[in-house]
Amino acid sequence: MRLLLLAPPGAGKGTQGQRLAARFGVRHIAAGDLLRAEAQAEGPLGREIATHQARGDLVPDQIVLDVLIPAVVEAAGHGGYILDGFPRTLQQATAAAELAARLGVTLHAVVYLQAPEEVLTQRLLDRASQDGRADDKADVIRHRLEVFAEMTGPLVRYYTQRGILITVDADQPPDSVTADIEAGLSTLSP
Ligand code: ADP
Repeated sequence: MRLLLLAPPGAGKGTQGQRLAARFGVRHIAAGDLLRAEAQAEGPLGREIATHQARGDLVPDQIVLDVLIPAVVEAAGHGGYILDGFPRTLQQATAAAELAARLGVTLHAVVYLQAPEEVLTQRLLDRASQDGRADDKADVIRHRLEVFAEMTGPLVRYYTQRGILITVDADQPPDSVTADIEAGLSTLSP
């Protein structure tokens, strides 16, 4: 199973990604987590990643590709993956698609998790009080949602055109979202 979760901040792609990975026995590759881990490293690369993340800006495509591609290739050889937050720009999507075609491991489906902006904002503010991520502050949250609309929004059309997009209402309890994703996946042609 090779799946991409396409979702704005706060839509629950981390939660759903973990569940789907367990359900299908594949790796959960969370771009934000891998980049945050990389940002901990001493040196200029770590500092550059940390600066972009703290502002709520996307990390530059080339850095993202350098960090994510090895994980994707590794997982492709072990049954597949649930990609959470990668690709997130058209340039990343075309680079990933070229590589996947070369390796014969194209995506089976893209799940687009949708929820109203005020729901997303409230969830992120609630989470901020628990785990204190540097980018879970009101002004940075607003910026992340704008960046999603501008940079990642075009991927909805891109994957719709490829005929593999499933849209799921993420403004529901986590179990209902999981059930809707599984129902959506079961309608795809094998
Ligand atoms: P969220 O979806 O709530 O913003 P993530 O952990 O997925 O949380 O991402 C956090 C940050 O990590 C993003 O704001 C961005 O700086 C960086 N990031 C994650 N994935 C990508 C990506 N594919 N391309 C560029 N930057 C990314």
